[in-house]
Parts: sequence; structure tokens; C-alpha cells
Amino acid sequence: MKQARRLDNAPPYLFVEIEENIKKALANGVDVINLGIGDPDMPTPDFVVQKMTEALKNPAYHSYPEYDGALEFRCAVARFYKKRFGVDLDSETEVVALLGSKEGIAHIFFALVNEGDFTLVPDPQYPVYELATALTGGVAYPMPLLKENGFFPDLSIIPKEVIKRTKILFVNYPNNPTGAVADMEQFQSIVDFALKHDIVVCNDNAYSEFTYDGIKAPSILMAKNAKNIAVEFHSFSKSYNMTGWRLGFAVGNRDAICKLKKMKNNIDSGVFTAIQIAGVEALESGDKSVENMQKIYARRRNIAITELKKLGFEFVVPKGAFYFWVKVPDGFTSKSFTAMLLDKTGVAVAPGNGYGQYGEGYIRISLTISDIRLKEAFERIEKLGL
Ligand SMILES: *Cc1c(COP(=O)(O)O)cnc(C)c1O
Repeated sequence: MKQARRLDNAPPYLFVEIEENIKKALANGVDVINLGIGDPDMPTPDFVVQKMTEALKNPAYHSYPEYDGALEFRCAVARFYKKRFGVDLDSETEVVALLGSKEGIAHIFFALVNEGDFTLVPDPQYPVYELATALTGGVAYPMPLLKENGFFPDLSIIPKEVIKRTKILFVNYPNNPTGAVADMEQFQSIVDFALKHDIVVCNDNAYSEFTYDGIKAPSILMAKNAKNIAVEFHSFSKSYNMTGWRLGFAVGNRDAICKLKKMKNNIDSGVFTAIQIAGVEALESGDKSVENMQKIYARRRNIAITELKKLGFEFVVPKGAFYFWVKVPDGFTSKSFTAMLLDKTGVAVAPGNGYGQYGEGYIRISLTISDIRLKEAFERIEKLGL
């Protein structure tokens, strides 16, 4: 069977290949320690599960949900943005519920990008920005995130011809995979650039609640005039260990949100209302649970800092998210080091080149694993005597 041409544009999703290799190792009886995937290892907090159990029994939630999200959900999102970021949102026009943020991130490209248009995407990046661009027939222009620039894009080096034909500029702070966190000055510079060139700017804020050393992640919507041009994506997956539930939201510029809604209304029929009600509970009563997760990741981060230093790896201590972006030792590529580690130690990591061309020479280590297993992974690597 022939697939549509647009699918030819989409390379295989990085994590599929990692999963295959891990499956093979497991089938061979290897005790694999998986530091490769960013899926929280802790369960969804009890109070959220409890709310869901109640909501499930309410027949009012059994019919088609409201397309844009339940009013109760949209109002809770607006209250969360006010409380957490000091940002005012109109729950009618500036908020939309998503089937996980990945869904909305992919669909906003379909809503705004034509064949041949450019998008500006970070490199390394969460692969969806480039893949979704490719599926629309657009061209993703990489903005290198380099260590010497604090993993922040240099907007001054983007060619004028590209800027002229660009529809979306995507950033992701706190950043996966580099761990960088943007400050307000950086967000303001991106918003000013977007306003000047009439480009919609999107920030993927999935890791807003996970930052370290007293840093608090801002929202791009806190920048001056941001709501004239900016959209922010948010997810319950990381903050509340809810990856399996598929719940997120987009907020910001009403024009962009309106177009995203139009796209979605023709493809999906909204998020199961009971899940949204559980999400409201997470937003309203989740502070303790988030604090607890912050402590857990901070503890694991300290373990990783100590061990990586001891082993002589080159890395920048992450300010946010729950990953380490680590240089591979001399003589290795991302892929060869990842393969060697799995083969010799049973430790799985994510090869940096899967996040873009500027990820070559790096691996990503995830902290979504118990302290004991994390320590064991480093012990195994130490025995290699690199
Ligand atoms: C995990 C993650 C998401 C969350 O996606 P969901 O679809 O909400 O589960 C979004 N962006 C980045 C950068 C991520 O790492």
C-alpha cells in the first residue's frame, strides 16, 4: 500500500528505535536500567485518582465533551495562570483543553502553516515541532541551542528570507533536553522579535513546575504585549504524573487559539469531561504533590551531579526539567555510545542526535527512575572504566 506523501516526510519517531533495542536486550535476559525515556515513574497522586473515580460515576460526563473544554476546566486554568504567573486569561477565548499537549502542539502547525512555509524550531528539540512541520509540508528551520549561548537561540543569525516566510517560532523552556530555563528578559526578546516579524511564538511549558536552586520558571505570557502574538502549551503529564491520562491545554493569543480550536473541532471531539474534572482537582489541590515531586527530582539530580562529575563527564547542571544533557566521551558518537552502554552495562539512555543535528555528541539521561536504580546505573558505568 502506498502511504500519503506527507508521511514520507516524517522520519521514524526516535523513541521507537530505542524501545526496540531495549526489548531485544530484555528478551536476552538483560536487567535493563532505562534512563532513556521521560515518563514519570511515580503514580498519579491519590486525590486526583479519587476525583476521577467519583467523576466517572456522573452520567453528565458520559456524553460528548464540550469542544473547547469544560467551562469548569477553562476557569480552573485561568485561576492557575493568575495564581502561578500573575497572568490574566479569558476562559472563553484564551484557553483550550487538549488531549495531552502533544496533540495541540502538532495541531497548531496544521492550523497556521502552509506548504513551503518555514517554522523556527529549537535544535535539539522535543521532536514533535519538526515532525508536525514536516507533516504540513512546511520546512522546519533549526535554531541551534548551544552551550555557549546557555542553550538559548541566537535570533540574529536567522536569514531574512527565512524570517519573511516563517509562520511559527517554537521554544520550550524549561527545556527538554538541555535543562535550560529562560528568564523574562529572554522571553521578552523572543516576543519582541515575533511581534516585529508577525510570527506566532509558542512556548512549550510542560516543565514549568520543575526547576532547581531557587529558580522559578516564568510563563512567556508574562512578557509585555505577549498576548498579541504568543501561545503557551501546558501539560498535566509531568507536573502530576499523568502521562497516561492525556490532558493538557493551550493558552494565550485569542486569534491563534481560535484557529487551533477550528482545526481540532474537525479532528477530535474534546477531552473526556471526567478527566478534565480530575485535572481541575490537580490544579486546585496539587501544590503539595508538586512540592513532593520537586524534592524527589532534586534529590536524584544531586545524585546525578555527583556521579557524573566523579566519572568525568562533561555537562551543564540543569536548571529545570528532569534531564541531564551529557557530552559523550571522545571517540564516540551519540549512537555508538548509546549502543555500547546498553550492550556493556544494560543502561539505556537517549542518543542526542535523535533531538536534532545539534544534539550529535550528546546523550540525554532522565531522572524518572528510583534513586537506587539511578545509583546502580552509575555504578555499572563506573565499572566500564571509561
Ligand atoms: C513530555 C513533554 C510534553 C508533554 O506531552 P503530553 O502530550 O502533554 O504528554 C510536551 N513537551 C515536552 C518538551 C515534553 O518533554
